Amino acid sequence: MESNALFDRHLAQTTPYPIGLEIERAEGIYLYTPEGKRYMDLISGVGVSALGHGNPEVRAAIKHQVDQHMHVMVYGEYLQSAQSQAAATLTRLLPSSLDTVYFVNSGAEANEAALKLARRVTGRTEMIAFQGGYHGGTTGALALSGNEQKKYAFRPLLPGVRHIALNDLDALQHITERTAGVVLETIQGDAGIRIPDAKWMQALRARCTEVGALLILDEIQCGLGRAGSWFAFEQYGIVPDALTLGKALGAGMPVGALVAGRGWMEQFTHDPMLGHITTFGGHPVICAAVNAGLLELERGYIVPGVSRKGRRFRKHLGDHKQVVEFRQAGLFMAVELASPEAVQQVVEYCLERGVIGFWFLSCPEAFRLAPPLVISDEEIDAACAIIRAALDQL
Ligand code: PLP
Repeated sequence: MESNALFDRHLAQTTPYPIGLEIERAEGIYLYTPEGKRYMDLISGVGVSALGHGNPEVRAAIKHQVDQHMHVMVYGEYLQSAQSQAAATLTRLLPSSLDTVYFVNSGAEANEAALKLARRVTGRTEMIAFQGGYHGGTTGALALSGNEQKKYAFRPLLPGVRHIALNDLDALQHITERTAGVVLETIQGDAGIRIPDAKWMQALRARCTEVGALLILDEIQCGLGRAGSWFAFEQYGIVPDALTLGKALGAGMPVGALVAGRGWMEQFTHDPMLGHITTFGGHPVICAAVNAGLLELERGYIVPGVSRKGRRFRKHLGDHKQVVEFRQAGLFMAVELASPEAVQQVVEYCLERGVIGFWFLSCPEAFRLAPPLVISDEEIDAACAIIRAALDQL
């Protein structure tokens, strides 16, 4: 049977209109179909391929680990050097208070673990999250997410979650001695790139400290260079109590991570013992990719170039008369247009001409640009010429 017939017949779908592009191979910022048509991947599918596709060091590390061993035991029992190395490299890049990593399988699972950590550390149950936030598709992570349209059909979700508005200083008073944790995307992605004010962020940090609530920053999408610094929180001069990562962390492999201080993380070992468990979290092949990917980002001196590349996109697109607003942190960009229909037209026009942009879950009037961080200036210019032509058609 043809692969598209198999796709229709046997794979669960998430929309009635999947893009349905058949990919045979991928390299750098390009995806190739079996017919040899080439597409520029300007979304890193989605927010994952920071190093582009097929990084040779990552591939070599994966192959090496496959030859050593694959899964041998549930997370946390055996000593596996791929896991320890990945944790050591990651924590070296972080402030010293974030010294302990719990590897899981996805971003949502990292946020679920963070929820449990906040409850366990504080003995409280209430959580504060933010309007517009997105934290994953599992019921706890969905409860933290702000988009009601994606939640109503699945209620009841986790009780005790209150959503407040970003950048609202008064709303911080809802964070009280009853609050276990506050979960925020440092820069909101699926809300269409919403960037907190520095003063507000510092007030949020101070309020959490004042009432003893854990500040949990979700950098699953905005972390690891995407926003122009290794971690987006660095731009605010604050340090969270716990950090969740995913997406780009795996350099193309599936992973999530909860990072926090050792004292707190040890609480998962008692009362109850095995307080958070996962069979495949910290899989050695995945961790080999994590370690190699982080080292490649570092060795290639990639993160320091991200803001400059982001400005190049802005220069090409920001002043187009169809662009209502160009929101951006590094290579994390939302191009807001007059209507969702205009966004649809631009995305389709670009796709036909070999440039992949995408939508946002919770911001239909903007399209998403989040290319691999390794994109070159020439590639940015070529992509933007097509996007500008698409905007000209409106
Ligand atoms: N948090 C943020 C900010 C995300 O963007 C996502 C995914 O888009 C998630 C969490 C969930 O990650 P995953 O899809 O790996 O469960």
